[in-house]
Amino acid sequence: MKKTGVFYHDICGKEAYSSLAMGVADGFLGIEKSGLFYNPNVTFFKSRPALEQEIARLHTPQWIDEVKRSQWWQVSLYSIGGVLEATEKVLKGELDNALVIAGVGGHHAHRDSAWGGCYFSVTGLAIPHARELFKAKRFAIVDTDTHHADGVRDIFKDDDDVLHICFCHDYGWEYENGSLTSNDTKFCFSHGSSDETEIENVLREVPERVKRFKPDMLFWICGMDTHQDSYGTRALTEKAYPKLAEIIKDTAEQACDGKLIVKTCCNAPPHATSYALPRIVNCLAELNLYHDE
Ligand SMILES: [Zn+2]
Ligand SMILES: [Zn+2]
Repeated sequence: MKKTGVFYHDICGKEAYSSLAMGVADGFLGIEKSGLFYNPNVTFFKSRPALEQEIARLHTPQWIDEVKRSQWWQVSLYSIGGVLEATEKVLKGELDNALVIAGVGGHHAHRDSAWGGCYFSVTGLAIPHARELFKAKRFAIVDTDTHHADGVRDIFKDDDDVLHICFCHDYGWEYENGSLTSNDTKFCFSHGSSDETEIENVLREVPERVKRFKPDMLFWICGMDTHQDSYGTRALTEKAYPKLAEIIKDTAEQACDGKLIVKTCCNAPPHATSYALPRIVNCLAELNLYHDE
């Protein structure tokens, strides 16, 4: 069994960017109701707010001020804080892995701008944090959200110690010229059109690549707008996410001693998030509570 943390704060549910992050509160509730927290190896942590200086590691003062004047400041702080704290605990060895439930997206956030329910680089900010506080240097990010992670790609485009594997093709979305820049550490691949083909694509492109890269830690941005009742590819059922979790967790086991942070902003309806999230935690913690797959 693994020591697994679940990071969440009520503000992330109550103040979520609701049209995108529609299943946040119910996703967390699904974990609570599942009884997973009664297992000694699964611990709930109330996410802390990020500090402004932690955000300034990647974002400009002008952009920070702009978000500060918006209604998305608080929810952004608690979303980022959850990822930073989870990263600290995993790198210290207090936890093996963690799920962070955020109220906003992050992968469309650049240093001085953002779009699509994103304000700051929620997951990206963990990288300078980990480098500053720990000896960690190399990171892999796997992003299975429908859309291209233009913000993460832009921020880390010249950083060869960041492997970025983004699934975003064949969705019919127009991306700005140059935003899909790829090289030896930056990749974009196609989404599947069903649970089976999505799982095939991730199995083909992720495990070997991450193992060869040898990161200190793996992040999975588990976008759920790929769900059939959401607004993205609309290709997957809720059953796909726990299966993707198994592949990603297995990859982390083999590539970086299991050090894995899963970040989701629950951008699928409540019935999907309340199904998928407890099963993802079940997988991370190596419990065996579900026999319905
Ligand atoms: Zn998306
Ligand atoms: Zn992409």
